[in-house]
Amino acid sequence: MINETDMKHLGRCVELATKALETGNPPFGSVLVDETGAVRYEGHNLTADGDDTRHPEFAIARWAAANMTPDERAASTVYTSGEHCPMCAAAHGWVGLGRIVYASSSKQLSAWLDELHLTPPPVATLPINQVVPGLPTEGPFPALAEVIRELHRRYQNSQKRKNQPAE
Ligand SMILES: [Zn+2]
Repeated sequence: MINETDMKHLGRCVELATKALETGNPPFGSVLVDETGAVRYEGHNLTADGDDTRHPEFAIARWAAANMTPDERAASTVYTSGEHCPMCAAAHGWVGLGRIVYASSSKQLSAWLDELHLTPPPVATLPINQVVPGLPTEGPFPALAEVIRELHRRYQNSQKRKNQPAE
C-alpha cells in the first residue's frame, strides 16, 4: 500500500527527473529512503556525458553497498520516477535493497517511445520482477505517469533541436 510519505518521495523523484531534463539528461530521478524514513541518497540520470550506465538507480545500489549494512539495505525503499531497467534492477537485487516504488513503468516508457517514433533502447525493458523475483514493487501511478510522459516528450524535442544542423 502507498501512503502520503510514499507520494512525497515520488514527488521528489519527479522533481529530480525535471532537473535531469533541465541539465540535458533523460528525465529520470530516484531517492533512497531508509527504515527510519530518512532520505539517504538521491540523484538523477547523468548519461548526457556519454556514459549510458549513469542511471540514478544504479548509483543508489552502489552507494548503498558502500554505506549501509545488509540489514539496512533490506529495510530500505527506493523510489523512482521510472521503473528500474534490467541493469539497475540487477544491481538493486545484488546489493540486497528492499522495496521499489515507481511512478511510471517500463511498459509505459516503451509505449511512449513508440508513440514518439524513437528507436527502442539497446537493452530490453523487462518488469523488475523478471530480473529480481519476489522483490516487493509498487507502481505505476497514473497521475504521476502523465507528468513523466510530458518530461519524456520535452526531452525528445530538446534532442531533436540539438541534432538539427545549424543553418
Ligand atoms: Zn537503469
